[in-house]
Amino acid sequence: MAESPGIFPSPSGGGQGGGRVDAIVVGAGPNGLAAAIALATAGKSVAVLEAESTIGGGTRSEALTLPGFIHDTCSSVLPLAPPSPFFRTLPLSQHGLTYDHPAIPLAHPLDDGSAAVLDRSVAVTASGLGRDATAYRRLMDPIVRHADLLTSQFLGPPRPSAHLVTLARFGIPALRSAAALAASRFRTGEARALFVGLAAHSMLSLRRPATASFGLVLACAGHAYGWPFAHGGSQRVADALAAVLQARGGTIATDSKVGGMQQVSRGRVVLFDLTPRQILPIASGQWPDGFSRQLQRFRYGPGVYKVDWALDGPIPWRADACRRAGTVHVGGSFDEVVAAEDAVAAGEVAERPFVILAQPTVADPTRAPGGKHVGWAYCHVPNGSTVDMRERIEAQVERFAPGFTSRILARYVMSPAEIERRNANYVGGDINGGIADLRQLFIRPTPRLYATPNRQLYLCSSSTPPGGGVHGMCGYYGGRTALRRARWS
Ligand SMILES: Cc1cc2nc3c(=O)[nH]c(=O)nc-3n(C[C@H](O)[C@H](O)[C@H](O)COP(=O)(O)OP(=O)(O)OC[C@H]3O[C@@H](n4cnc5c(N)ncnc54)[C@H](O)[C@@H]3O)c2cc1C
Repeated sequence: MAESPGIFPSPSGGGQGGGRVDAIVVGAGPNGLAAAIALATAGKSVAVLEAESTIGGGTRSEALTLPGFIHDTCSSVLPLAPPSPFFRTLPLSQHGLTYDHPAIPLAHPLDDGSAAVLDRSVAVTASGLGRDATAYRRLMDPIVRHADLLTSQFLGPPRPSAHLVTLARFGIPALRSAAALAASRFRTGEARALFVGLAAHSMLSLRRPATASFGLVLACAGHAYGWPFAHGGSQRVADALAAVLQARGGTIATDSKVGGMQQVSRGRVVLFDLTPRQILPIASGQWPDGFSRQLQRFRYGPGVYKVDWALDGPIPWRADACRRAGTVHVGGSFDEVVAAEDAVAAGEVAERPFVILAQPTVADPTRAPGGKHVGWAYCHVPNGSTVDMRERIEAQVERFAPGFTSRILARYVMSPAEIERRNANYVGGDINGGIADLRQLFIRPTPRLYATPNRQLYLCSSSTPPGGGVHGMCGYYGGRTALRRARWS
């Protein structure tokens, strides 16, 4: 990928060069860049220090397999980027970020050759669910009608709202477990499988309270905004954010891993786009021990095992809808998806894992040479698992797309350890910056959220609300908290 404008590798490798600045942001993931933009927009001087040689964190793209094939190293499907209240205020399209929408956001194939489909339209989705058409509309219509309100409420820290009735319509079903909600609201295998597949993005047992919230938010996003890809690769999200930051006076230094406070001493405030595990060795002497203990108690969730493929043609799905979908949930029936996620929660790998697969070239042919395709897939595994899941992932895809494996030209495999090696934030392969169970959804990573007992130090990574995903809202709220507490706003 082309290097972003205005990014300079630090000659010292430590990013200490330069004079005093108002703020230093450690980490150039989407949240670090969003925090930096929030501060720069308020007129503050900002320097971002990034450990790796390229910016983007979870929004990087690389030629992982063969020349001409662009793969998203981490995030690929971006349901939370278009509705992000902060991203919507930024001129990202002027800096090269456009979204490619597949004809169908999501399909979930079943063994009989059919597929449950999440279409952009609630009505079309419902009509595909047969006897569950009315139940689906009853569940989703009131939520999708208020999508803007709900996304701005849920893409942020918990806070009071004047729209209690609307929020309750979402909140009451959302607090249930995904398995209980699907089993009580739906009668067909298609609707039940579709819903638990959506909720499985929580990376929790689907029998746990509030896992339904993930299914509802992601379905709502699919209907209201789509599940697009960034044209040209997710790196374009980071590049556009970096360009906005540079236009507002901010700077970024790559190859600048921060290992101690002396490297950030020229900042009046410091914001960490890091998870508690990396923040502690850098900053634990900067606040009372009790706060360090709170950070130590922060819990990480399961990891992921990922495979990227260069393919010599499209994936030959049996169900036609899967051929047009950007994302395909490959895990079979309701019972199988629930069992696969239960296994991971119990510290085991699933024999038939639930695989989240994206096929960006269905919507964006620029990512592969003419007629060729890329595939991106991962399954959940216990944190730090060393089990090789490649064959199991490919067997699941082959099950619903016979002939798939013969289309593989090259593959790139990432175990949880490799994912963490590429980005220290992904502890044990946890891609969400910490488990998002009911407690850590709201108290994340401590009751202070973005603040610390030290008015100079702040948190802005996905270990703060609203958690994982490409939306920049952790960074935005982290930046705002710093502005407020430093009495700059
Ligand atoms: C395999 C995978 C698939 C994913 N799929 C999706 C998806 O499809 N859709 C979606 O919305 N989200 C997805 N995510 C999640 C999403 O990428 C993250 O939630 C998001 O990137 C978090 O942003 P962040 O800015 O908080 O942290 P990150 O993006 O992780 O950025 C943190 C940055 O800090 C840097 N850093 C770490 N330590 C230091 C240090 N000591 N000094 C300086 N810099 C440091 C890292 O190199 C990194 O650049 C996926 C993640 C992974 C790994």
